[in-house]
Amino acid sequence: MNKRKGRRYNTNAVVLCGLVFFVIAATVFCMVANGREVDREAKKAEAQQQARSAKEAEQKAAEEAAAKEEEERKESFTLQPGVAVGTTEVNEEEKVVYLTFDDGPSKNTERILDILEEYDAKATFFITGQQKDYRPMIKKAYDAGHTIGLHSYSHDYSKIYSSTDAFFEDLDKVGQVAEEQIGFVPCFIRFPGGASNTVSKKYTKGIMGELTEMAVEKGYQYYDWNVSSGDGAKATKEEIIKQSETDKYSHVMILFHDAATKDTTVEALPDVIKYYQDLGYEFRAVDRESLIFHHQINN
Ligand SMILES: [Zn+2]
Repeated sequence: MNKRKGRRYNTNAVVLCGLVFFVIAATVFCMVANGREVDREAKKAEAQQQARSAKEAEQKAAEEAAAKEEEERKESFTLQPGVAVGTTEVNEEEKVVYLTFDDGPSKNTERILDILEEYDAKATFFITGQQKDYRPMIKKAYDAGHTIGLHSYSHDYSKIYSSTDAFFEDLDKVGQVAEEQIGFVPCFIRFPGGASNTVSKKYTKGIMGELTEMAVEKGYQYYDWNVSSGDGAKATKEEIIKQSETDKYSHVMILFHDAATKDTTVEALPDVIKYYQDLGYEFRAVDRESLIFHHQINN
């Protein structure tokens, strides 16, 4: 009887020991597994944090690079007396089109900007101070990567060509309009009528010879054109297309007008851009390194 009882106690002790062992083993196992899980989670969180930090650093670096590029662009385009602008060296390996728009901004500027964006083409706008309501377009064009140049404030030949002082007074005024919009006075200009105009003769004999020299001395560079779209006069869309398209030059500077009445210019623009794109030309906005297009002086 006692023997049997003793055996049962033994059996119970073994079962108990087994149970205790099992509970301890299970607890240890759970702790280890839990520890590993916690470890894994921590590592995952750390990796995620590292990825986030790397992305943030990358984003910050990209923002800083963009800001630096913007600063350099601004500095390069700013009027700097005594610093020459532009080049006369033609790189014949390149095919480049400079689309240029005079007389804006106007009610048509936004449409022009939309077309340029659609075809990923950069252009240059030689502005006047005439249409106050559209001045924000100057900043919009600049922010989209186009170049802002100065044309004149009044575009009144009898005023601007009455004397060299009158010309630069007017130019300063449109320079201020640009500065209000983009934060600086650009060094790129286009004379109303071009440097070759003879209208100025009516007001001051020999003034274009003087103005072209003085402008460069003051740190500006003036740009004429080698292709005229013909839109200065009344022209149909077809006429503008025909006159704008030529494969004669590796470097083309086309004169267009961005004025309220020039709807056919806007209509012709996509065809003209496609024509040059198909011929492998690149569209560039004027910058400090751009080729200078000068006409012969006739007054
Ligand atoms: Zn003009």
